[in-house]
Amino acid sequence: MNSAPTCMDESDPKSLTVEQALERVLAETGPVSGTETLQITDALDRVLAQPVAARIDVPPARNAAMDGYALRTADGQAGNRLRLVGVSAAGHPWNGPVGPGECIRILTGAVVPEDAETVVMQEHASVVDGGEVVLERDAAHGAHIRGRAEDTRAGTVILDAGRRLTAADIGLLASQGIGEVSAVRRPRVAFFTTGDELVPIGQPLGPGQIHDSNRYTLAALLKRYPVEFIDLGVIADTEEAVRSALTQAGAKADLILTTGGVSVGDADFVSRLLQQEGQVGFWKVAMKPGRPLAFGRFGNALFLGLPGNPVSAMATFSLFVRPALLRLSGTAADPPWTLRARVLEDLRKNPGRTDFQRGILEQRDGGWVVRSTGGQGSHQLRSMSLANAYIRLPAESSGAKAGEEVEVIPFQSVF
Ligand code: AMP
Ligand code: MG
Repeated sequence: MNSAPTCMDESDPKSLTVEQALERVLAETGPVSGTETLQITDALDRVLAQPVAARIDVPPARNAAMDGYALRTADGQAGNRLRLVGVSAAGHPWNGPVGPGECIRILTGAVVPEDAETVVMQEHASVVDGGEVVLERDAAHGAHIRGRAEDTRAGTVILDAGRRLTAADIGLLASQGIGEVSAVRRPRVAFFTTGDELVPIGQPLGPGQIHDSNRYTLAALLKRYPVEFIDLGVIADTEEAVRSALTQAGAKADLILTTGGVSVGDADFVSRLLQQEGQVGFWKVAMKPGRPLAFGRFGNALFLGLPGNPVSAMATFSLFVRPALLRLSGTAADPPWTLRARVLEDLRKNPGRTDFQRGILEQRDGGWVVRSTGGQGSHQLRSMSLANAYIRLPAESSGAKAGEEVEVIPFQSVF
């Protein structure tokens, strides 16, 4: 008997691998156009539209790395007595000379006067009566002096276009006196969930109903990205309702995200409308949890239709939506960081699809170990909540035995 592959089959010849699916998503996804000028105080996590070059040398002048005494190298032998002629403090440079046989008191961050060639830390010198300083060790030329432009030199590019700004970048810009940057406009993401069984929080559940969790998860996930989002609510399983939501979203968004309704069931209008009135890229990805997944366009927007099961929706978000969001925002969608960890218990799996099991990763005796969160059903959202990492088991694998090394993807690098 011949039968069409169903979601229950482990391997479906028409499925794409995770890598193929991602390649297709990225091939269709480019950065949005449009830029805006931002104060650096509002620019964390935003993407630079233009490279930034250093305007000034930092540090702008040679300065002391230690509290101590600044002097000429020629005077730097242990046992020498030097006349203390002045003080250079941070923000209060010494403007007089430092002649032979002389030194000045200097504090960390203070400008080192031109005559001085070395700084002796205060622990290696003592002040004696009459304002003289006795060196207790030989001073090396240039010691404890930070050179001009040792951090950044005026004119060098310090941040490239496409850079997603970190806290350190914001500080680096501030160190240059740069208060504004040109950033890529935030992509607009419209999303809705589908399902007649779904009830928003705040309303009691009737027979057969469940609370809509995906919409809240999506909103929470999207907050981590430089995007503007439009929540279109829960949409009923009717062709008219789904068409109207898609049309609205397709008119104003750069990306449409939905959950549910992408299988081939009677109530799966999302996939059907995409096929009839939009464009569809693919339907099935050989991953667990995850398939089915829809990718295409509707109106002016890119479209990613995630599965309805909450764990599948999150897993496909991390593997496909995240890279698409980064690409749309004008920054690189680097592959996630992975590490190897020793698994603490047997993991079961059937060959055919790549598994992203939910795991708890921790350090033990100087190495990484991982264990399962337990129930791995795609409806068991608690498995995501308990986890801090995916355990990625390759398609051909038939599980792992306790003590074996497995590949782990920490959630920090995929959400
Ligand atoms: P579907 O892909 O629409 O067939 O949904 C698959 C499963 O996910 C069903 O058990 C749905 O009830 C459930 N589901 C769909 N959407 C949501 C949602 N927004 N929140 C929680 N569960 C959902
Ligand atoms: Mg549904």
